[in-house]
Amino acid sequence: MPSYVNPDKCDGCKALDKTACQHICPNDLMVLDKDTMKAYNRDVTMCWECYNCVKICPTQAVEVRSYADFAPLGASATPMRSTDSILWTVKFRNGNVKRFKFPIRTTPEGQAAPDGGFQTKADLNSPVLFTEPASVGMDDIFRLKN
Ligand code: SF4
Ligand code: SF4
Repeated sequence: MPSYVNPDKCDGCKALDKTACQHICPNDLMVLDKDTMKAYNRDVTMCWECYNCVKICPTQAVEVRSYADFAPLGASATPMRSTDSILWTVKFRNGNVKRFKFPIRTTPEGQAAPDGGFQTKADLNSPVLFTEPASVGMDDIFRLKN
């Protein structure tokens, strides 16, 4: 089941030019209705349930089917993000509530080095990743000989 917006919770990201859910969706599915100031998923057949919009929404307005391995049929899962962790509140169909908190980063917010600290020159024709061979702890990578 694709994501859907609960209009009672959506505040249209307080009329920002581009809402958080629009910004984050890799399929460009989220649209803001400027009349109602509510967002909606414009093509549910294209939604792959990546959870991005669910996790970024500041008002917990976006819901999506929970994966069965952590929330069985009829349960809901609502995230609450902080700068270093995410807290999932799972409500089961029998009324039970469980909360799971996970760390989401290993460096403080805003301090991650864009290149990961690897000062290598980008070479689009190279067969190795730009951090290799250093990131795999080697002097050179294994290569097949002709
Ligand atoms: S991110 Fe949440 S509050 Fe903002 S427009 Fe989307 S659904 Fe509404
Ligand atoms: S779950 Fe992912 S693909 Fe679906 S609308 Fe949200 S961000 Fe887009």
